[in-house]
Amino acid sequence: MIEYNLLYINGDFVDTARSNKIINPADGQVIAKVAVADARHIDSALKAARKAFDQGPWPKISLAERKDFILKISQGILDNAAELAELETLNTGKPIKEVTFMDIPSCAKTLQHFAQHLEKYLEAEYIEISTDISQAQGQLIREPLGVAVLIVPWNYPLLIACWKLAQALAAGNAVILKPSSLTPLTALALAEIIQKAGLPSGVVNIINAIGYELGKVLCADKRIDLISFTGSNTSGREIIEYSSKNVKKLIMELGGKSASLVLNDADLELAVNGSLCSIFLNQGQMCTAMSRILVQEGIYERFLADFVDKAKRIKLGDGLDYQTQMGPLISGNQRKKVLEFVDNARKEGAKIMCGGQIPTGLRLKNGYFLTPVVVTDVSPQMQIFQEEVFGPVAIVEKFSNLNQGIELVNSSAFALACCIWSQDQAKAEQIARQVNAGIVWVNTYGMFFNQLSYGGFKQSGFGKELGKAGFLEYTRLKNVVFDKTKETKPLVNFWYGF
Ligand code: NAD
Repeated sequence: MIEYNLLYINGDFVDTARSNKIINPADGQVIAKVAVADARHIDSALKAARKAFDQGPWPKISLAERKDFILKISQGILDNAAELAELETLNTGKPIKEVTFMDIPSCAKTLQHFAQHLEKYLEAEYIEISTDISQAQGQLIREPLGVAVLIVPWNYPLLIACWKLAQALAAGNAVILKPSSLTPLTALALAEIIQKAGLPSGVVNIINAIGYELGKVLCADKRIDLISFTGSNTSGREIIEYSSKNVKKLIMELGGKSASLVLNDADLELAVNGSLCSIFLNQGQMCTAMSRILVQEGIYERFLADFVDKAKRIKLGDGLDYQTQMGPLISGNQRKKVLEFVDNARKEGAKIMCGGQIPTGLRLKNGYFLTPVVVTDVSPQMQIFQEEVFGPVAIVEKFSNLNQGIELVNSSAFALACCIWSQDQAKAEQIARQVNAGIVWVNTYGMFFNQLSYGGFKQSGFGKELGKAGFLEYTRLKNVVFDKTKETKPLVNFWYGF
C-alpha cells in the first residue's frame, strides 16, 4: 500500500520536490510516501492563511455558517471513521480497538462540541460600572486572533489535530496545521474531508514539514498570531525562542512525569487495572502516563504482585488485530531511548520486575515492540524517577504516610496529571488540592471531556486545551468602554471642557 500524499495549501493539493517515507512500526515496512514542505511552502501557506483571515470570506461569515462548516468536518470524520482508524493504526502501531473506540469518535465529538458551543463561548460580556465620578458600560468582546499555527505530536496524531482545529476554527482563526513528520497520514486524509466540507480556500492549510529543520521558519514569522504546540520540552523551548523574535501568543502543552497515589483504602482490583491503563495504553506514549505509581505500604506487596502478573500477560501484536492490547513503539529510535532509561535505572540500583524484552518471534521481530516494564527500588534522585520516558515503563514504589506520598508526587519538575485511588472521597478531594497537576483523576484514568479544560503547570507547559477556558485561548479579548456619566459631566470634560 504505497500511496503518495500531498500538502494542502490554499485549498489545493500541492506536490513538492522532496518526500519522506512513512513506516508501519508494527513491521518496519514503508506504507506511504508524503510530500515534504520547504520554506517556500510555508510561505505559501502563511500567505494563504493571512489572506483568508484578512481579506477572505472567513471572518465575514456568520457564526451559524462557521458552525455548519465545522459540523461538516465532524460528519466527514464519522463517514470515514473506519478508513481513518486503519490509517492511524498503520501509521502509529496503536491498537485499532483504541483508535476505533476512543481517538476517532473523540475527534468528531470535539469538532461538534466547539461548533455547537461557539456562539455561547463567544458571547460578549456587558459590565455596568459606577464610581464616585463616572459611570460607564464596558463591553468585553471575544475575537479570533488571526493566523494560528497548530503543531501536533505523533502519539495522538488525529485527535490532537482535531482538538486544536476545532477550537481554532470555531474561534474564527485561519490555520496552518503541522502534523509530526512521523505520522502525517490522517492529517492529510483530513485535508480531503475539509476540502469536501467546502471551507473557503486558505482557512485550513496542512503541511508535512520536518520540525527541527523548518521550525524556525514556521514559528518566527511575524504573520503568525498564535502557536498552539503539543510536544516535547526540547521542541517547546525552541519554539518559545523562535517566537520571541516577533511577539505572538503561545499555548504550550509539553511533557509529563505524572504520578498515581494508591492509598491503603483503594479498591485494589480497580487500582491495579486502572494503573495498568494509565501507563500501558498507547504503549505508554502518553503525556499523562502515570509513569510513577506510588502505593501505600499496607497494600504495596499485593498491588505489586497483581500489577506485575497482569503486565506480563498484556498481549503484544499488530495494532490491526482486534485482540492486540499493546502495539509497537513509534520507531526504533524511540525503543532505543526507552531501553537506555531502563538500563540506566538498573545501573543506578533499580530492580526490573518484568519486561524490557524485544520479542524475537516471527510475527513481531521486524516491528518496534517492547514488553511492558515494571521497575521497583527506585529513589527520587534517579533519572527514571525524574525524566519523561515516553514508553511502557512503570515505576511501582512504596510510600508510608500521605504527606510523604504527596511530597513524592510533587517532587517532579513536571506537573501535568495525577491519579488518586481511594474509596474515601473526602480524603481524595483534599489530596487533589495538594498535588501539583493540571488534571487529577480520582479512581479513574484518562477521562477527557470537551467541557473540561486541560493543561499542565510548571515544565508541563502553559495554556489550556478544551472546555471554555481552552477555547478562549484561541481568541483575543477586546475591551470597549462607553462613557455613561449622567447629564453634562462626561469625565473628559473635567480637563479641557472650557
Ligand atoms: P516533538 O517535540 O518531537 O514533536 C512535536 C511536534 O513538534 C512535531 O510536529 C514536530 O515535527 C514538531 N517540532 C519538533 N521540533 C520543532 C521545532 N524546533 N520547531 C517547530 N516544530 C518542531 O514531540 P513528539 O516526540 O512528537 O511527542 C512526544 C512529546 O509530546 C512528549 O514529550 C509528550 O509528553 C508530549 N505531549 C504532550 C501532551 C500534552 O497535552 N501536554 C500531549 C501529547 C504529547
